Amino acid sequence: MIAEILCIGTELLLGDIVNTNAQYLSRRLADLGISVYHQSVVGDNVERLKKELEEAFARADLVIATGGLGPTPDDLTKETGADYFRKNMVLDQESLNKLNSYFIKNGKGELKGNNIKQAYFPEGSLILPNNHGTAPGCVIEETNKILIVLPGPPREMKPMFEDSVVPFLKKYSKGILKSKVLRICGIGEGIMAEKISDIINDSINPTVAPYAKEWEVTLRITSKADTEEEASKLIEPVEKEIRKRLGENIYGEDETSLEEVIAEILLSKNLTISTAESCTGGLIASRLVDYPGVSSVFLEGAVTYSNEAKISRLKVKKETLENFGAVSEETAREMAEGIAKTAGTDIGLSTTGIAGPGGGTPEKPVGLVYVGLSINGNAQVKKLELSGNREMIRRRTAIAALDWLRRELMK
Ligand code: ATP
Repeated sequence: MIAEILCIGTELLLGDIVNTNAQYLSRRLADLGISVYHQSVVGDNVERLKKELEEAFARADLVIATGGLGPTPDDLTKETGADYFRKNMVLDQESLNKLNSYFIKNGKGELKGNNIKQAYFPEGSLILPNNHGTAPGCVIEETNKILIVLPGPPREMKPMFEDSVVPFLKKYSKGILKSKVLRICGIGEGIMAEKISDIINDSINPTVAPYAKEWEVTLRITSKADTEEEASKLIEPVEKEIRKRLGENIYGEDETSLEEVIAEILLSKNLTISTAESCTGGLIASRLVDYPGVSSVFLEGAVTYSNEAKISRLKVKKETLENFGAVSEETAREMAEGIAKTAGTDIGLSTTGIAGPGGGTPEKPVGLVYVGLSINGNAQVKKLELSGNREMIRRRTAIAALDWLRRELMK
C-alpha cells in the first residue's frame, strides 16, 4: 500500500505553525510498514484542496488528511472528500448527540449554527470518535482508494490515529504489531524526553512515541514481528531500560489509571482514606470513586470550601485561618489531620489553593495550592505553584495530590 499525507491549513503555508502532523504520521506509517512517497500542504481553499486530492489519489492508495474539520466555513476537508468520491454529506446522529453533550458539559449551551456541520460525514464513512475535542474524523473507502480525515490539532489527531486508524490499517500491514503503553506522572514531557531521548530517537523496532496529556505522559512502545511472541520479545528490553531510567515516575501500563493504582494499594494494605477538598471541590473524591470497589477504603469526601466549613467540619482552628489564611501550609495540614480524625481513617488528603481567575495577591498568586497528606497521624504539606486557567489548576491539583499519595503509599 502506498500512502500520502495531505495537511490542510493556511497557517502551515504562512509558516505560523510547524507541520508536526506530517512528521508524526510519516513515522507511524513507516512503523506500520506502509510506504509514504509524498507529503503535501494546501491552504484552506476548496479548489486547490480538490486538485490536491485528485493528484494524491493518482499516485497513492491511501491519503491521510489532517485539518479543516472545524466548524468554520473554510473548514471543508470532509466536504471536498465527499465531492471527490461523489457522495452526499449525511448527518450522523450519534456524533450529533456526542457534540451536543460536549457543548452542554462545557457550558456552551445547545449545539447550534456551523457547529452542527461537524456531525455531517460523506455517506458510508467510518466515523472516528474524537475523545479529545469536538470534531470526529472519518474514513471514506471506495474502489481501492482510502481517504482518512483527521483533525488538525495534534492533541486530537494523535490519539485518534492511535486508537482508531492504527487498528483500521492493521489489515493492510504485514506481520503483527504489538503496543505497550507506559503511563507516567510527576515529571513533565520535557524532562522525561531528556531522560530517554536516545531511546526515542534511535527507536526503529520497537518505536517509542511519547504523548503528553495534561500532567500525565504516555509512552507507546510498538514492535512489529511475524508472531505475537517475537513482538513481545522486542518490547521487553526497551521497556526494561525505560523503567530503569524513569523509575517510580511510571505508575502503570496500558489502560491503568492513577486512581486504580492507588485504590489497589489501599485495598491491599487495608488502609482507609478520607478527603477534605477546597479548591478541587470534590475532583479527588470523584476520581477515587471511579474505581469500583473503593468503598471499603474510601470512607468520606468532604468539600469544605468556606472557612466556616473548615472549622465546623474539619476542626481547623479559627486562629490558624486568621493568622495564616485559608490558603496556607498550616490550614492544609489541619484540614488533612482534621478529616482523617473526624472520619476515622488512616489517611487524610486535603487541598486548599487559589484557582483564579480572581483572588490572587502578590504573596498568594493564582495557582498557589497546598496539598496536605496525613498518614497514620503523620502530616506533611506540599506547596504547588501551578499555571493555567481555573479548570486546569483544579485538575492539575487533583492529579498532583493523587500522584503524591501514590508515591507515599509505595514507600
Ligand atoms: P478545529 O476543530 O480546532 O478547528 P481543525 O480540524 O479544523 O480543528 P485546523 O483548524 O486546520 O484544524 O487547525 C487547528 C489547529 O491545529 C491549528 O491552529 C494548529 O495549532 C494545529 N494544526 C493544524 N494542522 C497542523 C499540522 N499539520 N501540524 C501541527 N499542528 C497543526
